[in-house]
Amino acid sequence: MTSLFSDAEIQAVLHVTPDSLAEYSGIIDVPDNNQTDEVKAMFLDRQIAILQRQQHTESEKLYCAFAAKYLPEAVAAFKAQLEAYCPPMVVINVVTTTPYFIRFSRLPGGRDLAAIMASKVAAIPLDRTDIQEDIAAAIGQFLATLLAVQGVESVSGEDREKVLKLFRKWSNKFSGSFAEETLGRCIDGFEGESIMQQMMAGMREMLSKPVEECGAPRCEKRHDPGTTNLMQCGKCKTAVYCSPQHQKLAWKKHKQLCYPTAF
Ligand SMILES: [Zn+2]
Ligand SMILES: [Zn+2]
Repeated sequence: MTSLFSDAEIQAVLHVTPDSLAEYSGIIDVPDNNQTDEVKAMFLDRQIAILQRQQHTESEKLYCAFAAKYLPEAVAAFKAQLEAYCPPMVVINVVTTTPYFIRFSRLPGGRDLAAIMASKVAAIPLDRTDIQEDIAAAIGQFLATLLAVQGVESVSGEDREKVLKLFRKWSNKFSGSFAEETLGRCIDGFEGESIMQQMMAGMREMLSKPVEECGAPRCEKRHDPGTTNLMQCGKCKTAVYCSPQHQKLAWKKHKQLCYPTAF
């Protein structure tokens, strides 16, 4: 019996690295890789499944290392694709809870992500029938996180209406599934539903903490332009500290997630 893939390919898929995620999501070009986009996308799904089965502390390291090194390219690749659901989206979707993503989402290259994702979704025809449940779930999950991080108001009124219509339709179609739940978060967010607004604000607060609050244990000094100026870690440019002493105190823990950062 012959396998579709070589042993070397199978070994490579089992070894997840920031570079392999970048390669399979097509955000970097690896000259000696002759795999088709379909094969790469399939390998990317496998690698993400591997990460999701790992212990959270292990996968978190890889998500941080990937985000630190490749987020600007991943986001540029996502913007360059027409489809809302595409390999760069799949890989960005798994790193949205890292502090690296939060910091990047405030920079010029990242702050329009929610608006761009929403307009890509708004462009999906209502009568399109080839969207599977897991893809609808991922689209809903990614947009819901972006709305929490960047605010519902960052999406134009016109796109909000179109997305609402589409998501209500999908939500009926995938009733009872995880897709209904993630699409529902976006629907409630767009409709200004008050519990969802609180949940989104809570999520934004939780995700912002590592880039706004001193990383030392029990120190709650927060970055506040004008009054409290915290220093950024020179290597990752993401964690912040109120003093060199507190940076030292936090280092043992922080070094696990501190990666040289491309932005
Ligand atoms: Zn650092
Ligand atoms: Zn401190």
